[in-house]
Order: sequence, then structure tokens, then C-alpha cells
Amino acid sequence: MVSDPEPPVLVVQGLSTLLTMDRSLPPVPLVDRFDLTVKPGERWAIVGESGSGKSITARSIMGLIDPPLSFSADRIEVDGVDLTHAGRDAWREVRGTRIAMILQDPLTALSPVFTIGNQLVETIRRGAVTALDARIRALELMRDVGLSEPERRMAAYPHQLSGGMRQRVAIALALASRPRVLIADEPTTALDVTVQAQILRLLVGLSQDLRTAIIMITHDIGILPGFADRIAVMYAGRVMEAGPVSDVLRAPQHPYTRALLRARPGREPAAPRRRLPIIGGAPPDLLQPRRGCPFAARCTLALPVCSDVEPLTVAVGQIRVACHLAGLPSEEVR
Ligand code: SF4
Repeated sequence: MVSDPEPPVLVVQGLSTLLTMDRSLPPVPLVDRFDLTVKPGERWAIVGESGSGKSITARSIMGLIDPPLSFSADRIEVDGVDLTHAGRDAWREVRGTRIAMILQDPLTALSPVFTIGNQLVETIRRGAVTALDARIRALELMRDVGLSEPERRMAAYPHQLSGGMRQRVAIALALASRPRVLIADEPTTALDVTVQAQILRLLVGLSQDLRTAIIMITHDIGILPGFADRIAVMYAGRVMEAGPVSDVLRAPQHPYTRALLRARPGREPAAPRRRLPIIGGAPPDLLQPRRGCPFAARCTLALPVCSDVEPLTVAVGQIRVACHLAGLPSEEVR
């Protein structure tokens, strides 16, 4: 008998996040019909330039959107809990228990006036465990995230730790309630390359050992090999291409993804490490009315139809791609 496939821990369908500047004007979509299905232990990367909508997408999935922004979705389900029409209380309950987030600057998650141990124990005690059990769990978490000498570190204040150690503590705090989904918004951007590699290895280990699904928001396409299982490439609030990382890196279907990969760091050995690929032109002004493909003004392959008609998302093998050229033989479109 074939057992059921593991159910996803996160389902997002048709998520749109709108900016309402003035009630007399139509709202501006900053995220447009975003879809994502994540399985336990899976590692996703959401990639794109600054302003592509990836961080707003992450905040929307966490239910952390305030006016003048608002969001809606056909379906949002976290670890089996349907949040599609949920109010703030339901979101608050799910946040930090089933889904958690770490940010680029770990100090935003840490109080400067309490020790690391105090903050971890207090977070764990919100789950109504005894002080002793919470301390044991705090030490266990510190070991899980690779903090050496956990007993000694418990007494340290955030400013006494290095940036890499603070990020490990922030990850431990996020994991305190054993969330099934961890969203990591540029968690390694402020760290040097060696510490960045350590944190990425740590996240890979957590996804494998604890089956925590991880969604990494990043500018840095250089981190994808060895980290992500699947990738979604965002541009102007839309997913341009999504699928298994190996397929997308081997045979990218969208001209924007190809441009990102052509410009990726490390292609020229002598070039300094760059996190942001350089592509000619600039992203569209999202405040202006849209028409056609959002990448048309920068696309070297644009056809006349591209400026008028927005491409639908279609499947090419296991990749989903939003481009009028999708599925054409590569020699015809390069
Ligand atoms: Fe380029 Fe047209 Fe494809 Fe947009 S739809 S990426 S403009 S070819």
C-alpha cells in the first residue's frame, strides 16, 4: 500500500499585498498573486532584487502587515491551520508557535538589557513549562544552534557576543516553540563569508534534523547551490519563475533569471564578491499603472506583445514560468 505523501506545512495561494496611498485611488499591488507550497524539511529560497516584493511577501505570510498595506489570499494555511480569513488573534497564536521569522539584524529580536539565558528561558516559559525545564531546553537549543559553552553564554548580554553568535541566538529564540516553518529574511547579509557559511550549514542541519521547513529571503543567488531545494524568483511583486533549484540553475526559463545568473558573483575569478547582480535598467515604478510583462523594459528578448499582454504562468517540466517565450526551444530564444 502506498502511504499518503506528507502534507505541506505551508500553503499560500493567490496572496496579494496592496498599498493604499489615497482612498480615492486604486490600491497598488506590491505582491501580486503569490503561490507557495512548502513541505516539512524543505528549503525554499525567494530571490530577487531590492524592491521585488520578497520581504513584504514574507511579512504577509507571517500576518505582519499594517496599514497602509493590506493583504488577502485565496488560501493561507500554516501547519494545517487555515488563516485565510483569520483575525489578528489567530495570527498571533500561530506566529512563534507554528511559524517564526529571523531577520538580517538579530538585535531586533534581542533585548539589550537581559541576558541571553533570560530571554531564551522566558520565551520557552510562554509554553507553560517549569523554570527548570525551560532552562534545560534553553541549553539544548543553544547546543542545537552550535553555541559553544552554553552555560557560560547564558549569562552573556547580546552586546558581548559576535554578530554570528547573536544570529545563532536569534535562531534559537525563533526555534524555542518548535515552529514547523522558519522564514529567514536575509539572515546572513550582515555577516562575513565564513560566518555566513556556518549559519547556512546550521539552517540546513535544522531542516534535516528537526524537519523545520525554511524559507530564505535573499539577494544573494550565490548561496543557492547546497542550500535551497526550491527557488522562487520574484520581480516587481510577481513570481517570474519557480521550481527545483537544480532545474532552474541548469536550465533557467525566464530571461530575468538568466540575467541574474549571468551576473552572479564568482563567475569571474578576479571579480570582487557581489551580492547584488547588476542588470541593465531599473525595475518598474510599482506606483504607475501596469501593463504587459513587468520585465519588458529590461528584457533583451522582448517581443511587441510583451508590452501589452501580461504573460500567464505556465509549466515547463517542473518549473513554472511567467514569460511569453516559455517552453520555446532555447536556441530560438537566447
Ligand atoms: Fe521578456 Fe517578454 Fe518574457 Fe517578459 S514576457 S520576460 S518581456 S520575453
